[in-house]
Amino acid sequence: MDLLNTLVDKGLRGESPTRAEALAVLATSDDDVLDVVAAAGKVRRRWFGRRVKLNYLVNLKSGLCPEDCGYCSQRLGSKSEILKYTWLKPDQAAAAAEAGVAGGAKRVCLVASGRGPTDRDVDRVSKTIAAIKEQNEDVEICACLGLLSDGQAARLREAGADAYNHNLNTSEATYGDITTTHTYADRVSTVQQAQSAGMSACSGLIAGMGERDEDLVDVVFSLRELNPDSVPVNFLIPIEGTPLAGDWNLTPQRCLRILAMVRFVCPDVEVRLAGGREIHLRTLQPLALHLANSIFLGDYLTTEGQSGKDDLDMIADAGFEVEGTDTRTLPAHRADALAAAGGGCGSHGAEGGGCGPCGDAPGTVADAAPAEPGLAEPVAEPVAVAAGESHADLVAVRRRGAGTELPPNA
Ligand code: SF4
Repeated sequence: MDLLNTLVDKGLRGESPTRAEALAVLATSDDDVLDVVAAAGKVRRRWFGRRVKLNYLVNLKSGLCPEDCGYCSQRLGSKSEILKYTWLKPDQAAAAAEAGVAGGAKRVCLVASGRGPTDRDVDRVSKTIAAIKEQNEDVEICACLGLLSDGQAARLREAGADAYNHNLNTSEATYGDITTTHTYADRVSTVQQAQSAGMSACSGLIAGMGERDEDLVDVVFSLRELNPDSVPVNFLIPIEGTPLAGDWNLTPQRCLRILAMVRFVCPDVEVRLAGGREIHLRTLQPLALHLANSIFLGDYLTTEGQSGKDDLDMIADAGFEVEGTDTRTLPAHRADALAAAGGGCGSHGAEGGGCGPCGDAPGTVADAAPAEPGLAEPVAEPVAVAAGESHADLVAVRRRGAGTELPPNA
């Protein structure tokens, strides 16, 4: 396919496709999905080899958020029967983090529900970072605490946070459909504050909220412009008790196309396969490792993932290797640029990496890409699951790990 050859050539040079090319990737047919994976896999291997970085989520504070992000089980008015607890103490958080590090995680993501931290919260998180680094000096710490106020990014960086996560989640045009209590611009501003303070920016998206292909391309191009070092790609976990509980819009093939598009647009960036991979990719998860170079180990913020052992087995069986702390994740040119900015090595967004996945109309049919000379003929995306058909049985609320007496599954 001419399209794929063009995109591989660009990706190997570190260049992005055009918007029309990105749309055309999303419009390829299921018949072509292995070709798409193979092509984007070449770009992945160019910049990240066969390494997989493991990240581990610690939910420092769960539920009871005053914000109304429609995808989120921790939102205002959520009926989801999730764990609800206030701030973990530093030693409790460090114990939870230790389980992830022991399982092979190179980065620990410290997440707290809420609009944003108070200065007292920043103090708490600073103590937690110190407690974790005392046990594991080399572990990367990413904070995900919501919208930052003046000076808080610098304080977190000073406390040892290497990265900050805040997801854009969806396009600017559809942002108001998923959240009314803060704006897209607020989110952009927080990512920029983190970067200015020298933290590595992590910012990603949530697919499956009924968005159009154009929205997915918009948000990924916006991310490209923001230039985060890592981009988590979440697939909506339609958790019972949230407004999006019925939104089962994704097929495994569509998830692969979305990941491939993100890889092509952000060729040299850490693309993380985040929340929802188990329930949407299902038995095709290993193929996604050819596109993403990073995953979360074990459970998510409020839902269960597959066991950490299954994650490690999947990586080994697919012929990939877990990245050690002695290996730099980012390609040299990105790592050097980050170091020059004073940075260490991010998510308030979704179940995976930050607080935050949502969407508009359930069952929306993705728009076909406009035809362009040399591009594949667009093929209409089928709706994977009939309207109203639910796979809610695949979603299990987290009842172990942080905030409980039970060990985590890392
Ligand atoms: S995504 Fe974050 S800000 Fe939004 S409702 Fe959930 S916890 Fe609150």
